[in-house]
Amino acid sequence: MAGRILMFSMGLDSFILKQVYQFKNEECLFVRMGTEENRIEESLIDKLYPGVVKTELPISQFELPNKIIPFRNHFLALLGAQYASSIYFGFTLGDTTKDKDYVFKAQIEGILNYFATSPEKVKYGAPYTVNMPYKHLTKTQIVKKYLDSHFPAIDLLTKSSSCYNGGDIACGMCRSCLRKFVALYLNDIDTDGFFINNPSHYLDQFLEESIIKNRVSELSDIQQCIIKVKGR
Ligand SMILES: [Zn+2]
Repeated sequence: MAGRILMFSMGLDSFILKQVYQFKNEECLFVRMGTEENRIEESLIDKLYPGVVKTELPISQFELPNKIIPFRNHFLALLGAQYASSIYFGFTLGDTTKDKDYVFKAQIEGILNYFATSPEKVKYGAPYTVNMPYKHLTKTQIVKKYLDSHFPAIDLLTKSSSCYNGGDIACGMCRSCLRKFVALYLNDIDTDGFFINNPSHYLDQFLEESIIKNRVSELSDIQQCIIKVKGR
């Protein structure tokens, strides 16, 4: 069996994918990239998900000032292929970097399967597939999917971690915190006490930035969230 592996970052998206697609801990791969956030993520993993496979690839040294690590998911996909033939990522519609889209998927699959035409040179055989089952959904929609499957809402706050600022408690101001807040708030999940700063104070600024950066797929969710916050 060539098996499947979930690239598990402890962020909201891969957490939901793990639950809904019932990935066992042993089918999840956590990669230490050397970032500040890794420390928090790993301590949560040790506590909550014993048996998650861990490995190291210190690519945070290549991080640009805008927080992008060039070819991050290229590295991760090739790493995932050391563990299984079906590699899963929790990418969503709102993810805009090129290494999270369908062209990326097709190209990486091409690279993997080309190499695997020499079957004695790979551990797991072709076909290699890069799977992104949530790529057509917004974060708000995947949270809804999770709740519709009767998983507990509170776990989204206590069992996933994705703040860019790497503190023990999520900052409530970074893009990652704001995207998470919008998805939770639109699904009527109470986030009181889980963010240092109240994310609702930063939504107007977040909307403006998303318009400037042409992140169109999440605009309507942010707008709806602003309307909902103001209506309370
Ligand atoms: Zn944050």
